[in-house]
Amino acid sequence: MVRSIKGRLLLWIFISMTALFAALGYALHFKLHYVVEDSVDKMLHASLQFVKGLVHSHDGKNIECESNEFMQGDYITPDSGHYYQVFLNGELLAAADSLFDKNFNLTPGKAESYNAKAQEWLYHSIGPNDEPLRVIQHDFVYMDTPVRVIVAENISESLLLIHQLINYFLLIVPVMIVLIGMISLVIAEVSLRPVQHFSAALEKISHKNLEERIPVNKQARELRRLAEKFNSLLERLHRAFEAEKNLLGDAAHELKTPLAVIKAECDIALQRERTAEQHAASLKNVREVTNGMLGQINGLLTLTRLDSGLLDASAFEPISLTDCVEDAALLAKSLATKKNVAISSSLNGELSVLGDQDSLTEAVLNLVENAIKYNHPGGFVAVELNRRDNKAEIKVSDTGIGISEQDQERIFDRFYRSDAARSSQDGSGLGLSIVQAIVQAHHGEIAVEAQSTGGSRFTITLPLVTKTV
Ligand code: ADP
Repeated sequence: MVRSIKGRLLLWIFISMTALFAALGYALHFKLHYVVEDSVDKMLHASLQFVKGLVHSHDGKNIECESNEFMQGDYITPDSGHYYQVFLNGELLAAADSLFDKNFNLTPGKAESYNAKAQEWLYHSIGPNDEPLRVIQHDFVYMDTPVRVIVAENISESLLLIHQLINYFLLIVPVMIVLIGMISLVIAEVSLRPVQHFSAALEKISHKNLEERIPVNKQARELRRLAEKFNSLLERLHRAFEAEKNLLGDAAHELKTPLAVIKAECDIALQRERTAEQHAASLKNVREVTNGMLGQINGLLTLTRLDSGLLDASAFEPISLTDCVEDAALLAKSLATKKNVAISSSLNGELSVLGDQDSLTEAVLNLVENAIKYNHPGGFVAVELNRRDNKAEIKVSDTGIGISEQDQERIFDRFYRSDAARSSQDGSGLGLSIVQAIVQAHHGEIAVEAQSTGGSRFTITLPLVTKTV
């Protein structure tokens, strides 16, 4: 299998040209044979009419075949290559002098064809000098007597001419093939030049200048679509690269503050003599900050796994969304009690989706925990599961601190936390990003409606499996 396009082009041009020449040679060979035989046949017909004209009767009783002075030159010498025989009632009446053996059988084999209208038989045979002959045998009745005239012609020269022409042709073929090979090489080279331009443009782009694009209009028409595809791929790569870069910067920034707290706590502890209680308090503080960092690192790990396809849609199975919501509400119960927030859940019917049960439970739990976390003591959280057309809708509403309009646009960004959240609650700023990634992996959507004065509602929409489990 030829892998290079240039190689394939060359091979195909070469094969098709060789086949073309072979077919041409074949056709030429037949045409030449036809033309040569046709001209020989015309000559033979003229001779036949001539010899036929020699058959006559002087007295109206006896039939003769008179030799003619015009034919002396043609039929006299054995190497003339022209022969004739005349049979009367099956008996030899006359024969050309060129036939030493007047009884030589000019038609030994089977006739090649028969022309019924002209009553002529056509033969190919071997002459008295071992030369190839073309023969016509004609039967007619003269004065109630059956007469047969046979005329023959040496065709060795005609055959030689054909062979010479074919040989010339065969000699030209390799020269033509080499010539065609060279032309094909040039065609392949010129045709592939746009591809070289394209790859040169592509080579200029690396991870350092991912914002650059391949100039679509400067490409050959056939490559423009490919250039557009590459550009959109570059666009996505660029965005992913930027997101990675930002994430790394944000992660470093986020981890810097708790690390500075730990370092300060250690410095203070080591600077002067302290009581056991003071040390214990410092260690408690360090543990809290470390827990926060651990939460952020775990969140980051989950996000990275989700980004690299942890949730493979092809491995999804029908699962009960009702169970997911029920489990999430149950798991959040202790936090709700701790924060003095009431939870109610309203699950309308058994709804099932294609997905991963643990991830969807985690997503709903995240929303319910946020609704509790960002709520007021004595507040309320409602979890609802409903069917809307062929979609499942999970709504988590709270009577909490609410979210300003500017914050609503950013809360799904990684590490983003509102000022109010930063000052009052622990958190990583990754929870909603994880929820969004899980929902999107399930071909669903997440939306937020909230007031800055208080109260928020998060809605997850997921495509339903028609069959319930
Ligand atoms: P975390 O809760 O760890 O800070 P999230 O990604 O879960 O991180 O949330 C991002 C931000 O969105 C929170 O810091 C908070 O400002 C805001 N937020 C999320 N849920 C609510 C809610 N139910 N009510 C008010 N604000 C919320």
